Amino acid sequence: MPKTVRRARASLLTRFGVISFLLLAALGAALVAQILVPVKQESKEIAEQRARVVLAANTFLRSDFDTGFVPLTVARRAALAAAFGPLAGPAGFQRLKVWNDEHWIVYSDDDAQAGRWFPPDEPMVKAFQGIPSAIVTDLDKAENSIDRDLHGTKASIYFPIRFDGEAYTDDPAAEVVGAFEIYIDYDAIYRSAFRSARNLAGSVVGGLVVLYLALFRLVASASKRLRRQSEQNRYQATHDALTGLPNRAAFAERVTATVEASMAAGRHAAVLLVDVDRFQEVNDTLGHASGDEVLVALADRLRSAFRDDDTVAALGGDEFGLVIGGIDGEARARAVADKLRAVVAQPVALRGGLALDVHGSVGVALAPDHGDGAAVLLQRADVAMYAAKRRHTGVEVYRAELDHYSPLRLQLAGEVRRAIERRELFCVFQPKVDIASGLVVGAEALVRWRHPERGLVSPADFLPAVENTELALPLTAYVLDESLAACRRWHDRGYGLHVAVNVPARCLADERLVDETVRSLAAHGLAADHLELELTESSLLADADRARHALVRLRELGVTLAVDDFGTGYASIPYLTGLPVHVVKIDQSFVFHLHDDPQAAAVTRFSIELAHGLGLTTVAEGVEDAATLETLRALQCDVAQGYHLARPMPEDDLLAWLGRDDVSVVAAGAEVVS
Ligand code: C2E
Ligand code: MG
Ligand code: MG
Repeated sequence: MPKTVRRARASLLTRFGVISFLLLAALGAALVAQILVPVKQESKEIAEQRARVVLAANTFLRSDFDTGFVPLTVARRAALAAAFGPLAGPAGFQRLKVWNDEHWIVYSDDDAQAGRWFPPDEPMVKAFQGIPSAIVTDLDKAENSIDRDLHGTKASIYFPIRFDGEAYTDDPAAEVVGAFEIYIDYDAIYRSAFRSARNLAGSVVGGLVVLYLALFRLVASASKRLRRQSEQNRYQATHDALTGLPNRAAFAERVTATVEASMAAGRHAAVLLVDVDRFQEVNDTLGHASGDEVLVALADRLRSAFRDDDTVAALGGDEFGLVIGGIDGEARARAVADKLRAVVAQPVALRGGLALDVHGSVGVALAPDHGDGAAVLLQRADVAMYAAKRRHTGVEVYRAELDHYSPLRLQLAGEVRRAIERRELFCVFQPKVDIASGLVVGAEALVRWRHPERGLVSPADFLPAVENTELALPLTAYVLDESLAACRRWHDRGYGLHVAVNVPARCLADERLVDETVRSLAAHGLAADHLELELTESSLLADADRARHALVRLRELGVTLAVDDFGTGYASIPYLTGLPVHVVKIDQSFVFHLHDDPQAAAVTRFSIELAHGLGLTTVAEGVEDAATLETLRALQCDVAQGYHLARPMPEDDLLAWLGRDDVSVVAAGAEVVS
């Protein structure tokens, strides 16, 4: 997983942590302030409450407040002391003073203070105006206090004292005759109020901390789970489930990055696709589990064969991709392609003990030569890969001629049309030899193009451009006519060869093919049994009903029908039994590997047995050496065609070859001509 994603996720959690912490801290501070700020006010109120209790215990007489200073009698003092005395102490008052309206202290629990006079201070003035008040004073700090003996912070509460005539009253309308000052131990009240407020604040803060931790843990674990989930999702989205390799989407990303980096450095990058040849057969014959085993083994092999920065990817099915950057051009890309091919082409040991030979075809596209976008490069590597398969070359580097969709290909189609008109196309012929007798029995016509500028062009380079267009029929008619003309000449020389002509799928579904065949045979005065038409398996499958119709008509004419490239098109065997064909041409990809791939050998043997079982003749194409020919003989294959016997040659060369002493040819009229 890229680091950027991890960092973004981590900062998300940190952000949540910081923001929620700040919010909760602000909430905590607000709550604590709500709890602590009123403590002073509340303490004052409690002090006032207590002072009122003291006030309520009074036994004041109007005469206690006489004008001037008249000391109270002993009896009055005793009466007041008796009334207030029980309320003195830590839970009650600490000191009390009773003032008359001339600011003399007429009574105090501290006898020494009675008879003293003070100028009125602010709360006192208020009290004489009838307004009770409370102030908090630290007696230790107060200047020239007469109450310093009490120590600490006290609340002094001032009440007006009112009389209605001779009767003490708290009626606010009555006359104020004096003031009452009561000291309450504020320290103790404040301390206890503060203590309980502090406990409450502590619980609130503690609760918030617990809440924060719980939330943080919850979010942290949720984010961890999310991260793991998203990592897993990302992994699944970018990797192939079977092999664990990066998938097509991830590969496209890597291609883009590699191409950009290489081009920035003035270098080339190469996209290589490898497709396992005949993988479908592995699946069909050994089952999908074995197919999967092969793919996993190949994936492991490819992973360890290339450097980490050369991304190997599984592109679906039996296709793998490789992208390499920083190379200097095509030669290096080809070397890598050869290595890729060699890595694939090693036997895979299956669980059942079977060692399976696998081969791959590799297509290469280069950046910037063939494109600089991932999509274009992949598509072009794909085109090259299919060409490698089609041409049995193993490796192909992209060229526009290979590409169905390239403008060059359209141009090519136009050129082929002109080439037919100008008769630039001609046929070479490759002999077919009856294995048992050694007699040359026929020749396959293979088209060539003598291009005015490009020289000799092979069919693999131009046929794909026309096979699916309306040019297919004129081309086939042209080859048919050339071939039958040649065949006529052979017969005139006494060689009883048949000529085999390849017919593309599109023509088989075209009514005019039969007409052309009839016309051309008649034009050259040849019996239909001197013509063999080679049809690919896929063309037989493409438009089965129409194909069958054409086949039946051709067969009725007496034309020999062959299934070309047998084994590559996955035609099912029961299907083959229903077709009016005479010959099966086993594809050269099997014949090539007759000795080094047990599977290819098995397919060849099986195909021959099957064909014989159905009463069909078998032809093996691509016979390149004597050993292969001997094996085919042992397998009782009927006819062989390949470089070992003869290469495709122009008609003149063929005639010279047929005339050689060591070549025996079937005679026109069934005699052997030598
Ligand atoms: P095909 O019909 O399977 O023809 C056999 C191809 O294998 C020919 O390639 C032939 O030259 C080649 N070959 C023969 N013996 C050997 C051998 O021992 N080793 C190797 N490596 N190759 C061998 P060519 O001529 O390039 O033709 C390729 C394909 O093009 C043909 O495959 C056929 O499908 C198509 N084609 C050729 N001529 C015509 C034509 O006139 N019309 C149509 N429609 N298709 C044609
Ligand atoms: Mg052929
Ligand atoms: Mg063939």
